[in-house]
Amino acid sequence: MEAHQGKSRGMSRHLVWLRADLRSIDNTALSEACRDPEAEVAALWLVTPEQWRRHGKAGCQLDLELRTLRELSVTLEALNIPLLIREVPDFAAIPALLLSLCQAEGIDRVYWNKQYEWNERVRDKAAADLLRANGITVEMHADQCIIGPGEVLTGDGRFYSVYTPFKRNWLSQIYERGVRVHPAPLKRQSAWTRPDPVPTSVPGFESHVPLPELERLWPGGESAALARLEVFTDKHARRYRELRDFPALSEATSGLSPYLAIGAISSRQCWQAAANELAAYGPSADIDHWVSELGWREFYKHILVGFPRVNKHRPFRLETEQLRWNDDEEAFQRWCDGKTGFPIVDAAMRQLRATGWMHNRLRMIAAMFLTKDLFIDWRKGERFFMQHLVDGDLAANNGGWQWSASTGNDAAPYFRIFNPKLQSERFDPEGNFLRRYLPELAGLDNKRIHAPHEKQRDFLLDYPLPMVDHRAACEETVSRFKALGELP
Ligand code: FAD
Repeated sequence: MEAHQGKSRGMSRHLVWLRADLRSIDNTALSEACRDPEAEVAALWLVTPEQWRRHGKAGCQLDLELRTLRELSVTLEALNIPLLIREVPDFAAIPALLLSLCQAEGIDRVYWNKQYEWNERVRDKAAADLLRANGITVEMHADQCIIGPGEVLTGDGRFYSVYTPFKRNWLSQIYERGVRVHPAPLKRQSAWTRPDPVPTSVPGFESHVPLPELERLWPGGESAALARLEVFTDKHARRYRELRDFPALSEATSGLSPYLAIGAISSRQCWQAAANELAAYGPSADIDHWVSELGWREFYKHILVGFPRVNKHRPFRLETEQLRWNDDEEAFQRWCDGKTGFPIVDAAMRQLRATGWMHNRLRMIAAMFLTKDLFIDWRKGERFFMQHLVDGDLAANNGGWQWSASTGNDAAPYFRIFNPKLQSERFDPEGNFLRRYLPELAGLDNKRIHAPHEKQRDFLLDYPLPMVDHRAACEETVSRFKALGELP
């Protein structure tokens, strides 16, 4: 008699637990699970609302994940790989759920791709321990990076804390090993069960961006991610270095971060597209620069593993724990609402609210303003970003915030503080970006729009006065950092 419905003697059943890898192509765990042509394979995705609530998951990101999963479920079903959906409150409940699923369905091997965040690592260890203790084989694969954490180390075997030498080593290893993109798995002979319907939403995680707009900006699925990669490498990548800092030019950067964050596309696919472009049309400093940004993404994941304190709300530079940040809820709220009276900061925050995304230059400006002009703890901004970003990624977000706050590794020096007006004049010279998000300033000329109240306090203008004196705030910030003693 067979122990499980439909399972013949000797046949293997494999489960692929999908997390931040919502794609069929170049998914290492999925490819490995399908290596045995005889095995039956199913995929699993877990809804964990309590966990998400605790960690401030953005509704807009969840919506992109659900739309991506809907496409993926259809793709996998055509391969006879049903996608199962289960709900548990939080990570702590996952090991028991996995075990009971494996036991109920006769699954003998479970596969997943590694995640590098601390809670995820604790979760995965508990799950692997319980499954293995019950005779189920677990395979965890490195997949999120081209070269994973622990494989790019200094001469004396330590994690790098500075990007340039990391990048040199990272690139040389990539060239040495080559980059292989796995094709989608072949169709299985049969499926042992039907896929579950993918939910359209999860209560309590509504997107702050209206759904039609979110879908227009960030269509779901790996097909959308691949199409975006193709358009970017074909049409825009060769001007990346020149144009990447101008937020009004929405196609000057790839816009792939939401897809990389949820794993609708892999960094190897991005690398390969760049390499193909270089092979076909010759060298390009712009494409090299873009690849270097993929390197920053990986660098911050390595930092998370090498220096786990940054994943536990602590600064990389421990001496900066002595800083006494201002506890000013009203000022924080004005920053969140885009009502600081500094147009470039306000337009940035309103872009985040309107689209779930913010241009990289603006993330640096907005984060520096919060931490250096308002002297508000970077962790508050970090959390607000995670709650609103469609591309929220703990490693990159933490890295970006600690860079801006001068508490991180390889961070901006504390005395080099962005002047919002100068940044605005330099990177949005005609005010096109400002006008897009600040209609109340649309009538101002290209000069005045960057600091509307500077020459005359125009109380008729429906726009707030600057909430701080930038110069005085910077002096205060520098003196607080100086008081910590000499920072290396
Ligand atoms: P492109 O310029 O086309 O770059 C290609 C890819 O490289 C990006 O999609 C991204 O995956 C990666 N990348 C680019 N710049 C960086 C960087 N500085 N650090 C790490 N990876 C990078 N990025 C996120 O993906 N998620 C976040 O939560 C996040 N939070 C940030 C917070 C702050 C305060 C700062 C300063 C930066 C943050 N970044 C974050 C990095 C960066 O702003 C975004 O990755 C970038 O704007 C995404 O746009 P793009 O896809 O068009 O990038």
